[in-house]
Amino acid sequence: MKKAVIILSGGLDSTTCMGYAKEAGYELYPITFNYGQRHIIELNNARAVAEFYGVSDRFKVIELGFLREFGGSALTDDTIAVPKTGADPVPEEAGEIPVTYVPGRNLLFLSIATSFAETVGAEAIYIGVNALDYSGYPDCRPEFIAKVEEVIAIATKIGVEGKPISIETPLIHLTKAGIVAEGMRMGVPYQLTTSCYNGELEACGECDSCRLRLKGFAEAGLTDPIAYKK
Ligand code: ZN
Repeated sequence: MKKAVIILSGGLDSTTCMGYAKEAGYELYPITFNYGQRHIIELNNARAVAEFYGVSDRFKVIELGFLREFGGSALTDDTIAVPKTGADPVPEEAGEIPVTYVPGRNLLFLSIATSFAETVGAEAIYIGVNALDYSGYPDCRPEFIAKVEEVIAIATKIGVEGKPISIETPLIHLTKAGIVAEGMRMGVPYQLTTSCYNGELEACGECDSCRLRLKGFAEAGLTDPIAYKK
């Protein structure tokens, strides 16, 4: 059976990637990164999602606590607040790079996922990047993904042997509503996920990530199965 590594945060997007990889007939190898993010609650969600798909024995949690030593992002640095934009436009929509951008994160994630994929003989890596809702993040763009794919082909043994690993980005051109609709069609367990940047048991409903998620469900004409404070 062909194998795929899925970068799984326990949020809505990466969990939808689990659904896509399963639908494509892959044996799932989820990998989660603990990088000292504020939303550490997601790690438990990721574990629950891996259990849902019956692959908790293959589920990896990788410690990247050093990202907290670097800081530089609202997600990893206590001195930078997670924005609650409220009446203001969501920064992603205004075309700015939000303070929730984590320096070099997806480059690190894809490097480590490549190591895992090559080791287990996976032919694909799934990552839930999106070029629409998160257009502010440079490491969510298609051109970034294409370049990393090129690097993997020349940087790995299996690449040199002519079996390069592909990076699959099924969400890249979907709206949040489109992602939710696709996930519901595939039976993705959104009740086990959270997307809140604030990392408390109950999602805040106010941060950019919560707002995008709620907007996605609303536009898809569906109800988000998780609880919100607001
Ligand atoms: Zn939130």
